[in-house]
Amino acid sequence: MKEDQRKANIESGLANSSKVDLQWFVSQQTSAGSEWLKAIPKIPEYTMDDADFQVALQRRLHLPLSCIPPHTHCNCNRVLVDPYGHHFATGCRVGGYRTETHDCLKDKLARMFTIGEFRAVKEDKTIFAAALENDRHRPDIVIKNPEELRWKEKGREMLIDVSLTCPIEGSQSCNLVAPANLNIDVAREKKASAAKQRYREKKNKYQDLIRQYQEANNGANARTFSVVPFIFETSGLVHEEALDLLDRLADQCHELKKFHKDNMKIYFRRVLSVSLQTNIARSIRLRASTLAGSGDTRRQSLPAQTRSAINEGQDPLLVSAGPARP
Ligand SMILES: [Zn+2]
Repeated sequence: MKEDQRKANIESGLANSSKVDLQWFVSQQTSAGSEWLKAIPKIPEYTMDDADFQVALQRRLHLPLSCIPPHTHCNCNRVLVDPYGHHFATGCRVGGYRTETHDCLKDKLARMFTIGEFRAVKEDKTIFAAALENDRHRPDIVIKNPEELRWKEKGREMLIDVSLTCPIEGSQSCNLVAPANLNIDVAREKKASAAKQRYREKKNKYQDLIRQYQEANNGANARTFSVVPFIFETSGLVHEEALDLLDRLADQCHELKKFHKDNMKIYFRRVLSVSLQTNIARSIRLRASTLAGSGDTRRQSLPAQTRSAINEGQDPLLVSAGPARP
């Protein structure tokens, strides 16, 4: 099929979609968010098991998921679960799956920084506590030597906060809604709006915290911070600033170790994309299976290879030859 015809068919399909579908499909029209589809499973970090891959594909097409039986009600709020898994991906507080997805992305990202010889400290509880008594804020990752990233915002330490949000409103209540005036043009205009909103919230939170920290120190402290909210949408979309940071990290890996720059960029994006899709698919499958009465199959449902990819402590790729051959 000619490219023009293919594009025309896509446009026509989008125009005839429901507003919620349209918002979802447009959110997926990003290169970084589609990397998991291009990953050839030659290494654990590019590998998804069949059940996860099936869920991820159904999610991409916004089809009712075959792993969620009709009329499933969640035990967190007794609501009828949406058939696309949005509630289980980001709206459900039961089982700690949202946290697992977040932690897995955080761990992968922290390991990537170590390839570029950055000192990445996870969940440093002491970061503000020296000046703010009883403060328990802990950024997901603190980069202690960020100079070589040449980041636009200056600071002796870089605070990275990973977060995941749904591009469609209503994942908690399972009442999925799109803006009433949505059409293709508006959807494209509003693309990444959930990620941008979460980005602003995180920025404001840390600005406030840093201001309190500086005031408590009477402006005399030597510590300064840059803040990077690292935001994913559940569609796969990654906030542009997070992508900028990854690119700079790849540049540094190239400078230091002569890894191919573009391959490194693809490798970083792909690892995160596969991890995001795997973890969301797994959350959905396990929550659905638990509610269907077949118990929590969290551990036995995963093949050893996927478990090792998820469990950073056993990830063979980055420990051994991985970064040398992306
Ligand atoms: Zn729930």
